[in-house]
Amino acid sequence: MPKDTRDSRYDILFEPFRIGPKIAKNRFYQVPHCNGGGYRDPSAVVEMRRTKAEGGWGVIFTEQTEIHPTSEITPFIEQHLWDDRDIPALSRMADAMKSHGALAGIQLAYSGINGPNLYSREVPLAVTGGPILTFTSDPVQARTMDREDIRDLRRWFRNAFRRSQTAGFDLICLYGAHGFGILQHFLSRNTNHRTDEYGGSLENRARFLREIVEEAREETRGELAISLRLSLHEAGEMGFSNAELRDFIEMHGDLPDIWDLAQGTWEACSGTSRFKPEGAQEDLVRGIKQLTSKPVVGVGRFTSADAMVRQIKAGILDFIGAARPSIADPFLPKKIEEGRFDDIRECIGCNICVSGDMTQGISRCTQNTAFMEEWRKGWHPERMHPKGKSESVLIVGAGPAGLEAAHILGKRGYQVTLAEATTTLGGRVARERLLPGLSAWGRVADYRAGQIAPMPNVQTYLDSPLTPDDILSFGIEHVAIATGCTWRRDAVARLHLHPIPTDPAMPIFTPDDLMSGAGPTGGTVLLYDDDHFYMGSVMAELLVQRGCTVHFVTPAVKVAEWTDNTLEQSTIQRRLSDLGVTIHLSHAPDTIHAGAADLTCTWSGRTTTVACDAVLMVTSRTPNDSLYHALKTHDWQSGGITSLNLIGDAAAPGPIAWATYAGRRYAEELDAPDRGDALSFRREIAGLMDAPRLTP
Ligand code: ADP
Ligand code: SF4
Repeated sequence: MPKDTRDSRYDILFEPFRIGPKIAKNRFYQVPHCNGGGYRDPSAVVEMRRTKAEGGWGVIFTEQTEIHPTSEITPFIEQHLWDDRDIPALSRMADAMKSHGALAGIQLAYSGINGPNLYSREVPLAVTGGPILTFTSDPVQARTMDREDIRDLRRWFRNAFRRSQTAGFDLICLYGAHGFGILQHFLSRNTNHRTDEYGGSLENRARFLREIVEEAREETRGELAISLRLSLHEAGEMGFSNAELRDFIEMHGDLPDIWDLAQGTWEACSGTSRFKPEGAQEDLVRGIKQLTSKPVVGVGRFTSADAMVRQIKAGILDFIGAARPSIADPFLPKKIEEGRFDDIRECIGCNICVSGDMTQGISRCTQNTAFMEEWRKGWHPERMHPKGKSESVLIVGAGPAGLEAAHILGKRGYQVTLAEATTTLGGRVARERLLPGLSAWGRVADYRAGQIAPMPNVQTYLDSPLTPDDILSFGIEHVAIATGCTWRRDAVARLHLHPIPTDPAMPIFTPDDLMSGAGPTGGTVLLYDDDHFYMGSVMAELLVQRGCTVHFVTPAVKVAEWTDNTLEQSTIQRRLSDLGVTIHLSHAPDTIHAGAADLTCTWSGRTTTVACDAVLMVTSRTPNDSLYHALKTHDWQSGGITSLNLIGDAAAPGPIAWATYAGRRYAEELDAPDRGDALSFRREIAGLMDAPRLTP
């Protein structure tokens, strides 16, 4: 749709806006975000950023780029700009960002008290020395910088400014948010205990910022725009609070070319939809624009064009900042511009993308299955490879895996039959979206259902539980079985590798029972969580809503420990304790009697008994693969079937993102040439240096 036919309500989002010496073509601002690839996977990151450019973002940033080896955050994989040899990869990234008229930004970071230097082995330097403040409690302390160190740091920043400009960036973002960047460490009395001219009064604590902003301008001859990314609120009596931030901006409103304001910690800023709604930082940012003549950008997991317009018209923000919404849909700006609202793939706020960084894997996105596979596999968030030589595909099961497979195959041009046993599309998502806090997860089903509904080549059959004979009688060439999985009832998971002794008089339930409306509605329930992700705590909330008294038992040392990777763990633990749930850490049931369970401490082996009326097992899941195996034992090829595959949870239960990925992969690889033993993705291998060994 040409621009002049765009709904005029959204015009404001597409107005160009000045950022210092640069002009952004619109108000869509992809704030810096990690991706788990960083310096290890340069081309994968380049192509990921290129899709954002193609999708219409006006400003696109790199992730955190470490400017000097005296401060690095191994094991997390971000970018490096340590010397000129790092320039080519970043230059390729800047080119990709600018390929469709966006401004290219680089986020420069010096982590100070937050960088353990596990790789560089340099002594960490901090505004005020002390134990390194990371997620990983590294047994390392930082040294307090003296004046000479501060002069060195200013020079290292200068080097980074020069290299950023050489690499072709338009904007430099100075990182002082989330507790991670040294700018915040200077500003905050939590981390700045100095008594020299860099400590004490706010004016003194701001000195370093003033110096480096000035030096950034000098070094780049005023040609690059400077953004300051600061926390909106740091908790604690001595933290850099929202009130102090406002004082600082009032004093130095013109310091940067743009204020990029992000909620306090990363956990607070990137809260999941379970705990934070869209636009959650509004109260903290409202009114700040009025303190400065410079533009303000803020985030809020914005996916609704109306909410974005409101932020701008109400004078709260000038730019709509987005990390996760830009990951879930790199084409969000274009789709709004073209009025294609039904095509927007809305972020579900699950933080699986974050977990890719936290686990040093490579990030994936539940919604955008192409994320970080743009270069590795040649996938694109919007464009699919045309169909191959075969014609027809049957997908059995319309959960995330089946829906994604049908959606991508439909876009590729195959004749797709999607059969679902129940009367609803979505599989596990159709059920889980009804659980406390998880309604946004329904977008996984809604987006895909919306995409396939108008496709004449995709036929969907609800209420159609298929049998092997049904499938053999269809004469469809390719069959994918995506029949999901079922929660186990026998305590088998990580700790217990075999079922535990259980008195049949004790009612035992699983999440599937509760999701289908069965299960306890009162009394005392012992919930055993050896899954460690979200389901255990969500079930506990549901049981409390149903009026039950809950004992949450886990062999882990904290509740829902894997949710550290989705930045939710502390919020979940707090929520359960606020709900009055009794938490038994480092314990597991080893015998279940009628009316009680024996719990054993995983460290001491000591046993205690907890009286309960029912047990809920949140442990592991059994793949629903009997249909697949039944077909395998038939002579399936004689019925004209040329391939039979098992995908998603039916193959190996995992998070929803694993299922959508499995659906995408199946659909992408249909009719692809057989690769034999070759890798299924591209990777980069470090080039060997032609340098002699250093000898003592
Ligand atoms: P995944 O996460 O792998 O997509 P789900 O459990 O979410 O798996 O979805 C599996 C879907 O398959 C469910 O909606 C279920 O009703 C459906 N299903 C299971 N067995 C059959 C069958 N024999 N015929 C059709 N649909 C089936
Ligand atoms: Fe949003 Fe989840 Fe995708 Fe992250 S992984 S962008 S939170 S949908």
